[in-house]
Amino acid sequence: MTDLLTPPAADPAPPTSSDRFARRATRQVMVGDVPVGGGAPISVQSMTTTKTAYVEGTLGQIYALAAAGADIVRCTCNSVDAAAGLAQIVPRSPLPIVADIHHNHRMALAALEAGVQCLRLNPGNIRKPDDIRTVARECADRRIPIRIGVNGGSLDPSLYAAHGDRVTPEAMVASVQIELGYFAEVGFDDVKISVKASDVPLMIEAYRLLADTVDHPLHLGVTEAGPPPGGLLKATLGIGTLLAEGIGDTIRYSLTADPVEEARAGRQLLEVLGLRERTGLDLIACPSCGRAEVDVIGVADAARAALEDLQIPIQVAVMGCVVNGPGEAREADLGIAAGRGRGHLFVRGEVVAVVREDEMVDALVSWAQVVHTEGVAAAQARADRSAVAAAEADRAALLADQGADANGAQVRIDEIRRRVADGEVAS
Ligand code: SF4
Repeated sequence: MTDLLTPPAADPAPPTSSDRFARRATRQVMVGDVPVGGGAPISVQSMTTTKTAYVEGTLGQIYALAAAGADIVRCTCNSVDAAAGLAQIVPRSPLPIVADIHHNHRMALAALEAGVQCLRLNPGNIRKPDDIRTVARECADRRIPIRIGVNGGSLDPSLYAAHGDRVTPEAMVASVQIELGYFAEVGFDDVKISVKASDVPLMIEAYRLLADTVDHPLHLGVTEAGPPPGGLLKATLGIGTLLAEGIGDTIRYSLTADPVEEARAGRQLLEVLGLRERTGLDLIACPSCGRAEVDVIGVADAARAALEDLQIPIQVAVMGCVVNGPGEAREADLGIAAGRGRGHLFVRGEVVAVVREDEMVDALVSWAQVVHTEGVAAAQARADRSAVAAAEADRAALLADQGADANGAQVRIDEIRRRVADGEVAS
């Protein structure tokens, strides 16, 4: 049995994300200047919701997506006007563009002419082998990759019928293999693949099977996940489960929401898993309890609004009390804990200042800038020494007021023991 109680003789180096989530080895494709697969950082994608023919509006959305953390953006190319729009968008876009093609393979050729850096083809609705080979041949000549984007909801009807009138992981992967076969006939294999479904367990199983079948980079997503918060939950569960298994090279949240929300969520998921470096705020906050000395939800919301605008990579904690807050959030770069009408600011667990409750958010903003520009050690060196004593006095006073059991846990424990003793609850 593993001995978890005896600490190791030497402090081991903390695990990195690559130790935790060994990545599946894949070949690499280039979407413009963004590498996908082959050990490249996992990229974040989103899709514009404007008419592609509306050039200025679409570019505005692309810039907003880039600012929110997207690396690649997809635009529909469903008409000649859309293709003409792409011809104007591509040269001015800060992100490489994937053209989304459905039903009409000529739109794929038009998008290539417009200069897009990748195509997405849905094998379920472009089914004529000659058309598929024509597009693949053109992509090979232009060195432009294709995403084979299988979608559970638009699976080729013949595959659906062949798999018992059901969408199964096997049917989705078979669709991929048929498409790869057409590509191979013209010597094209510059491909990344997705097998999305709106059913999360189906999506997970389909990607696992696909990962065992091919070595192409995979684009992860739960299609039609819906509006937040349910959509966020479904997408996070599906994408996060696979990433934790080392599967996935680029991701997209498909939310019924502003696409900026998709890019933010994708970026945040990768940062939370340690798969991309933090670029912005990571706000943690305690759930509040009987010890809370402040409206934690209100302060956390105000802190997020004020700190997000700084766009600096920092983890900030908002804690409801000074009794446990600084200790519980000692790993945060910066934090605040409430106590007796005051806020105790701490940097990596060390108190650096005590401020009035109505100054807490402003103080967080100024100290965040100090931590970011000068570093943790320099920020700790700026500590107001009288603050440490004031913080300890507040903590001691709260413990004296509330006792060591502010949440009344001991009363419940005593009741459980009484019920066990009386035979009401089996021991
Ligand atoms: S003990 Fe303090 S920091 Fe922990 S949940 Fe309660 S109020 Fe928040």
